[in-house]
Amino acid sequence: MLKILNNFFKSTNSGKKKEKKMKILCVLYDDPTGGMPESYPLSTIPKIEKYPDGQTLPTPKSIDFNPGQLLGCVSGELGLRKFLEDLGHELVVTSDKDGEGCQADKELKDADIVISQPFWPYYLTRAKMETAPNLKMAITAGIGSDHVDLQAAIDHKIDVMEVTFCNSRSVAEHIVMMIISMVRDYHNQHAIVKAGGWNIADAVKRSYDVEGMHIGTVAAGRIGLDALRKMKPFDTHLHYFDRHRLPESVESELNLTFHDSVESLVSVCDVVTINCPLHPETEHMFNAELISKMKKGAYIVNTARGKICDKDAIADALKSGQLSGYAGDVWFPQPAPNDHIWRTMPNQGMTPHTSGTSLSAQARYAAGVREILECFFDGNSQRTEYTIVSNGELAGTGKHSYSKGDATGGSEEAKNYTK
Ligand code: NAD
Repeated sequence: MLKILNNFFKSTNSGKKKEKKMKILCVLYDDPTGGMPESYPLSTIPKIEKYPDGQTLPTPKSIDFNPGQLLGCVSGELGLRKFLEDLGHELVVTSDKDGEGCQADKELKDADIVISQPFWPYYLTRAKMETAPNLKMAITAGIGSDHVDLQAAIDHKIDVMEVTFCNSRSVAEHIVMMIISMVRDYHNQHAIVKAGGWNIADAVKRSYDVEGMHIGTVAAGRIGLDALRKMKPFDTHLHYFDRHRLPESVESELNLTFHDSVESLVSVCDVVTINCPLHPETEHMFNAELISKMKKGAYIVNTARGKICDKDAIADALKSGQLSGYAGDVWFPQPAPNDHIWRTMPNQGMTPHTSGTSLSAQARYAAGVREILECFFDGNSQRTEYTIVSNGELAGTGKHSYSKGDATGGSEEAKNYTK
């Protein structure tokens, strides 16, 4: 376990430690357009005991929300208000995060902790960080901390934490949904029904079975491995490329083929799913050159980060038929500008970054953020697996899965989205 050094306590004249009151800035996505739901489709969500590798789910001392309700939007407040205000801290929640003069930038200046989400990322660039002298920690309510300039966090000794595993399996389910729906051409078939049509030939002229296909993942971490496991029962051939090799027992359990380069992987796969974090080594990995080395007519599913792919190269490959389909729910920047080419390119099945924020996942990441805050306020060690940057270094999951540097360049374009 790593010790997060925090300047949380200050000594009083009596020598007794007294808590310093903190300002927590929380940047979350907007509420539903019609307001918060009065009821939900399910009254409860299944209770999950453990993640597949034995890691425990978040273990805060208590929670002040009902699992299964919207927590990731502004009014949901990650269920943190009572907890923070009972301790005397200030919580500011906003979705206004982009463009000059946005509320998040104003509130950041005297914030101690900033919480943001990959779905609606507050891009914490070096310039922004340098306006915030009190900032001690950036927490990702979810997984993937590339919206923080990690190099600047290292340089300024700002700790970066995320709720590792909270939505990895949610994303793996989304990947399976996208592989099957793209290969079978579900979107087209559903659109025909909704339009009142019945031309079966139109509906099936791009539709195949997944059985027998070669499916490969770029990175076989928590998501990539779970996606492989979930695709195994479809009688597919499974491949992976990762900078860390999986144990032999896992390779033989899934009959996996390991590739020592991404080029080798893409040259044999019908479907490639991208599951590595975004960091300088992976930025624009899928450019025109790599896509030209893929099997003609392959499919890509990218639920990792939009910037791992070159957006124009993807659109061109869909137009030329080098790719048969592209799906995913990650864009760069986010929200994607209204004229982002991935909204209108052919044969795509994009979603607006939802895979990791199902109501089920929200309960886990809200509890995980609370656990991280409790550890911080109590001066306790943080979980190694939740740690990305600690005390000026990549550490824990950060050391395993990221490289130093910054991947936020160009994020200011997010201001171009209009509701
Ligand atoms: P993880 O840390 O368990 O796995 C990451 C894997 O990537 C590791 O095995 C690591 O070795 C590998 N990797 C890193 N750099 C690599 C490189 N240059 N080449 C090859 N392999 C490399 O994380 P995870 O839970 O599997 O999540 C992976 C990523 O998925 C996150 O960082 C995030 O960007 C994305 N994600 C998206 C959503 C969503 O809602 N769409 C939710 C969760 C995570």
